[in-house]
Amino acid sequence: MEIDKARLYIGGEWTEAVAGTYFDVVNPATEQVIARVPDAGPQDMRRAIDAALAVQASWADAPAAERAQILLRAAQSMRAQSEDLARLMTEEEGKPLSESRGEIAYASSFFEWFAEEAKRVYGEIIPANSANKRILVIKRPVGLSLAITPWNFPAAMITRKVGPALAAGCPVIVKPSELTPLSAFAIAKILEDAGLPPGVLSVLTGTQPGPLVQVAMDEFSVRKISFTGSTAVGKRLMVQAAETMKRVSLELGGQAPFIVFADADLDAAVENAVIAKMRSVGESCVAANRMYVQRPVLEAFSRKLTDALAAMRMGDGLQNDVTVGPLIDGRAVAKVERHVADAQKQGARLLLGGTRPQGPGYFYPPTVLAGVTDSMLIAQEETFGPVAAILAFDTEDEVIARANNTRAGLAAYYFTRDVGRVMRLAEHLEYGILGANDGLPSTAQAPFGGMKESGLGREGSHYGIDEYLDIKYVSLGGI
Ligand code: NAD
Repeated sequence: MEIDKARLYIGGEWTEAVAGTYFDVVNPATEQVIARVPDAGPQDMRRAIDAALAVQASWADAPAAERAQILLRAAQSMRAQSEDLARLMTEEEGKPLSESRGEIAYASSFFEWFAEEAKRVYGEIIPANSANKRILVIKRPVGLSLAITPWNFPAAMITRKVGPALAAGCPVIVKPSELTPLSAFAIAKILEDAGLPPGVLSVLTGTQPGPLVQVAMDEFSVRKISFTGSTAVGKRLMVQAAETMKRVSLELGGQAPFIVFADADLDAAVENAVIAKMRSVGESCVAANRMYVQRPVLEAFSRKLTDALAAMRMGDGLQNDVTVGPLIDGRAVAKVERHVADAQKQGARLLLGGTRPQGPGYFYPPTVLAGVTDSMLIAQEETFGPVAAILAFDTEDEVIARANNTRAGLAAYYFTRDVGRVMRLAEHLEYGILGANDGLPSTAQAPFGGMKESGLGREGSHYGIDEYLDIKYVSLGGI
């Protein structure tokens, strides 16, 4: 993959931006520029919209089996090129190679899953009130869709939207994060090679996402927007979408509690805490942000978690034994530092880490803070970094109330051997994704999504394709 020759993909062509300008993509481990990418602007978005509208009808009416074949070929091709794609992802995002490989497998699974779902867009016949009528329910593609994605999962957040959009028969314009455009272009190339007709997919990004996206938000023919990113931008897009009544899916920020009860398998809880905290160096919307530990196991859990995180190796993710990569940029490091400083000022104790290393790269070490309280910044906001904030609790009712005391509602984790408690928490924790004795609940066949200010809609699973389908019915008389 020639990453230094990256171009926008618009209407089946690999192209420069109309304005002729470029921006740099930086490797966060080295702070070196690894590519110059055309800086897309409003005119480029216009081109993508026109190209999509020209093929919208033919794509919607293509047999589902044909659309499925393209997605299947793309999934196979992603797996065949996993090593190259993983390298590319590590270079632009920073996550260790092993995690990038895992993300490519996860990302390709959405193409495979939705290739199958494309063939199961079933209708329904409902009994009518009179003998000479029938009610026929049919589903049709919602139309041109816009997918806006973040940098923290540069491949999976794209396939999780593009997979169902294409399966449903919608053309789709992808606006990936300007921090990680290369994985997005690589996926476009894979779909092109898999036989996707020109115009059905465009991929463009730029340094001015507001004006770029505004063109599509103002366009009535764009009937659907699917966004993954920060809650602030998600709210703005929802307001913009109201003007033309677009269908909206939003996957926004989380603030995940990770609850360890005294009856839990403590080693399993620690092992899963490492995954839930450290995947993508904590830069994940489902990252464990607040670790609530019941008082009888507080010391033991804190010690074991500290030992596990101390054994991790920080560095450039391209090196084989590295398990902790850099954060995405200097702003991300500054946010983590602010959270840790605020916690320490209010009385939290550092058990590990807490000091950023010298040298190039946006590194911050695995860090453990004990004695955290709910009022500290770190327990109030998504930290998006490798800091385990440990809070003590006494009772089940208390921890449910404290865990729910946030506007976010994406993922929550809890560890217990009490079956009744597993069910009580499943019902009362106000979160869309629950890891009960599981620190890694995301998978293509499950309905990923949040409650409250974590967003609207579900991605993956058999529900995921519904976000790209309109339901119609025919009241058929004269029978
Ligand atoms: P972000 O909101 O800054 O950016 C997300 C995308 O929106 C990028 O493509 C960006 O270019 C674009 N964007 C920025 N400003 C825009 C504007 N004014 N109009 C239109 N588009 C605009 O978020 P980020 O920093 O890239 O990602 C981190 C956030 O994403 C975190 O809050 C994280 O929790 C969330 N996230 C959520 C999920 C989920 O599934 N719920 C998954 C991954 C990340």
